[in-house]
Amino acid sequence: TIAMNTNIEEKMLTTLKKYFGYTSFRPLQKEIIEMVLQGRDALVVMATGSGKSLCYQIPPLVTGKTAVVVSPLLSLMQDQVMSLKQRGIKAEYLGSTQRDSTVYSNAESGRFDILYITPERACTLSRGFWSNLLQTGICLLAVDEAHCISEWGHDFRKEYKQLDSLRGLLDIPFIGLTATATEKVRRDIISSLKMKDPFISKGSFDRANLFYGVKCFGRSLPLMDELVEEISKYLTSAGSIIIYCTTVKDTKQELFELVKAWNEENFDIDFVLQGLSFRCFESPSERSFKLCGGGGGTNTLPPSGHSNGVKLTVVLFQIYMSLQDKGIKAGIYHGQMSGKDREESHRSFIRDEVHVMVATVAFGMGIDKPNIRCVIHYGCPKSLESYYQESGRCGRDGLASICWLYYTRSDFAKADFFCGESQGIQREAIIESLMAAQKYCLLTSCRRKFLLEYFGEKSASSDCGNCDNCNNIKKERDMSREVYLLMSCIGSCGGRWGLNMPIDVLRGSRSKKVIENQYDKLPLHGLGKYFSSDCWKALADQLISKGYLKETMKDKYRTVSVSPKGVKFLSSVSGDHLPPLVLQVTDEMPD
Ligand code: ADP
Ligand code: ZN
Repeated sequence: TIAMNTNIEEKMLTTLKKYFGYTSFRPLQKEIIEMVLQGRDALVVMATGSGKSLCYQIPPLVTGKTAVVVSPLLSLMQDQVMSLKQRGIKAEYLGSTQRDSTVYSNAESGRFDILYITPERACTLSRGFWSNLLQTGICLLAVDEAHCISEWGHDFRKEYKQLDSLRGLLDIPFIGLTATATEKVRRDIISSLKMKDPFISKGSFDRANLFYGVKCFGRSLPLMDELVEEISKYLTSAGSIIIYCTTVKDTKQELFELVKAWNEENFDIDFVLQGLSFRCFESPSERSFKLCGGGGGTNTLPPSGHSNGVKLTVVLFQIYMSLQDKGIKAGIYHGQMSGKDREESHRSFIRDEVHVMVATVAFGMGIDKPNIRCVIHYGCPKSLESYYQESGRCGRDGLASICWLYYTRSDFAKADFFCGESQGIQREAIIESLMAAQKYCLLTSCRRKFLLEYFGEKSASSDCGNCDNCNNIKKERDMSREVYLLMSCIGSCGGRWGLNMPIDVLRGSRSKKVIENQYDKLPLHGLGKYFSSDCWKALADQLISKGYLKETMKDKYRTVSVSPKGVKFLSSVSGDHLPPLVLQVTDEMPD
């Protein structure tokens, strides 16, 4: 068997050189491919850019049998197929609606090395198709972006769930691949795909060349000018920037008015949305609108005459316009743009014709640009999984790159927005994910360590030295007095409010709500006037992060209460003596 193994190893290596031009496998790749060639199921959890695709692309070339790859995005499949074809590999894809009978029959008779397929299509193909392919030769079934199978994942897709039906038809290795999976999701993938004793390969998630930092903005996100100034700093070196907007301004009413006007007038009209002018027009096939002055692509209007389904991220356009005004070449990318405009926008970014891409998270999968220097999140992301993936798009070339996250506290109240129609376990999962992202924002310790631990990686005991908290320049001082005031006040108010009530009480408010609850009679009332409301919130964030306070989500509302750790602190206070508690001082806090 030793002779045979060397034989296979050699064959793997010649295949790698011949088709891909690389001289060696990365350590995990080799192991996984060997396992799969031996007929074993595999779960591959490796960071984006670590080379997962080769794990399913090499076996078909070594065995001469087809590899079937389930992939969620048509555009991604098209890219992959094109680049494989350029390497002389026989690759094709079968979409959900595509009725290409040539591809179908060629696929069935095993003409392809690699066949990409959408999950919908994979589940609806006939038994006959699979049994024909089994006869001509199929070496594996790969499920890319396998976390989509789990309701606990950050991107659940119900079509993925039905893939288990294929297991009964195909006695071949199944490979699940994903860039992000927590323990729960990993278990879900294994059981959903009915994997038998899978080989689990987990790469490190550490991206040492990425700097992680978070900036909090008291009431609202920074003005566009500030953002643009920040961006200019990173534009000095060659490379590009992505700004992800997760913040959405509610434009439903305005869009409703627009569609109404449109229906009444039925000809070209202009309209203003949050200070930006757009022009509507009608082409033979559809109704659209465009930003006046060009750029930003064509956005479709629903034909049915109501505004449901139109969600326009105005923030995106605002940032885009501010950049243009400053002479920075920017592109825009979001889900409501026409396919053609999206493609064009993507292309100009890849070709370095624009330096900054202002985008929603729709801009993402399949971006393999090496020289992205900075990814800015404008608003808190919906989960750490998506944050890790989106921010991880910078620094592919291994050079130092920067991931900034901007948030305001109100971002954390967006659970409803993210939940949409989701119910039950999915709703729970969404809220849990958002809570984790919030925790990351509020963190006062090493961010990398936190991220790695979140993904189940025991990181080195030392801090990374490459995140804002590690390189901290932030001031610190003993804040036990303020901590005492805030926690006592939260306790006195019964722990059934959000942060605003106890802070109002400390600041001596005589609002109707304060009086009704007789909180103006508390001895603490008015003792915290010297701190602004934002200062108190910044303090509370640190106490939540350190576990002295506990924030709970009830229906739509968040309540804050003192945790057992906080109670312990309070009970150790005797007379004038306060146990010291050193916390960060924000710029606005008085000494
Ligand atoms: P993933 O799917 O994990 O995001 P890819 O499969 O797209 O990663 O690979 C990322 C990049 O690494 C690609 O440009 C790929 O060509 C390159 N790559 C993969 N394996 C190797 C290797 N053994 N040697 C050199 N480069 C590799
Ligand atoms: Zn760190």
